[in-house]
Amino acid sequence: MTVISSLETIRVALPFETGGPRVGMRPDMDAWLTMESLMVRLVTDDGRSGWGEAFGHAITPATDIALRSTVAPLLLGQDPRSISRLMARIERPLHGFGRAGPAIYALSAIDIALWDLASQAAGQPLYRMLGGSDAELRRYASLMRYAGDVDAVAANVTRAREAGFTTIKLHEQTVPAFRAARAAVNREDMICLDVNCPWSVAEARAIAREIRDDGFHWLEEPVWPPENHAAAAAVRAEGVPIAMGENISTPLAFKAALDAGALDILQPSVTKCGGISGMQKVFALADTWPVRVVPHCFYWGPGYHATAHLAASRPEPTLVETAFITFAARPHALFDAGCDRFRLPDAPGLGFDPDWDALEPYVISRETVSA
Ligand SMILES: [Mg+2]
Repeated sequence: MTVISSLETIRVALPFETGGPRVGMRPDMDAWLTMESLMVRLVTDDGRSGWGEAFGHAITPATDIALRSTVAPLLLGQDPRSISRLMARIERPLHGFGRAGPAIYALSAIDIALWDLASQAAGQPLYRMLGGSDAELRRYASLMRYAGDVDAVAANVTRAREAGFTTIKLHEQTVPAFRAARAAVNREDMICLDVNCPWSVAEARAIAREIRDDGFHWLEEPVWPPENHAAAAAVRAEGVPIAMGENISTPLAFKAALDAGALDILQPSVTKCGGISGMQKVFALADTWPVRVVPHCFYWGPGYHATAHLAASRPEPTLVETAFITFAARPHALFDAGCDRFRLPDAPGLGFDPDWDALEPYVISRETVSA
């Protein structure tokens, strides 16, 4: 019997340029300078490696500890082939540590790595194992925030348009910035607005009324807190399509958002909602509702590959969110923010095959737990 013999965690903080002013996404940050990934490698006693990724950015130290101290003892020495059995073995004892956050991010990474191993063993790229047939995918450009600088917004939207992107997402929070983007593209282009939960329901409804005739493709996470689905539904009633889902973790929590009529576009995040298995449950649920699924993917490690394989497994392949930034080193062959089209590799598994020589200067921790 094959068993899991070790779990390795690797944190990589990759510097990037945005093409505009540098701003912090939190009050304690001067400027956001690196994008941090927490990668997980499961190694089996027959020498194979499966890769996963837990949701990254500033939470990686906590998730890293959860993986090595709490998850690894439940995982090491176990047969990796029974994914649902093994995930239940880990998930149920951890339920008291939260149904969102580091514990679930850790589980998400493990599940992705188990599916990588399973599809390698099956000799198929993951998307084929998930029922997909088309390896051709399109990205959408997910722009960084330029602090409301309308010139930077227009310049970067134009740059994304010239690279071939026809769906472009802003992370701005002001109507002048939204309209600067709209003015910089063709009428048929899709401009999406991700505002990251800034407003009260009254504020969000007022903004929705102001922009509802501007033709924006979606308004993402307009209200605080993100789990206030009744508030999102009230904003949606103003006539602007609502997108959300990156801050929802479990199938029943997704069902609550759907039941509330809170959204038009569902955005589950593979590194946050239980990995490939979690995403499949969300897809099955979403397919019984009049909503469209466009996964969240503001990361660049193995989670990017996982999202791409899941996108290719859909009856209509979905767009893959791609941060429109320039990294100090290209992390791997799949990630290219300069081109809107790409093709999944034919190699078995996830196909995560980074250039470690290029990434090595940006590795900030590397730890292994063995059986
Ligand atoms: Mg978002």
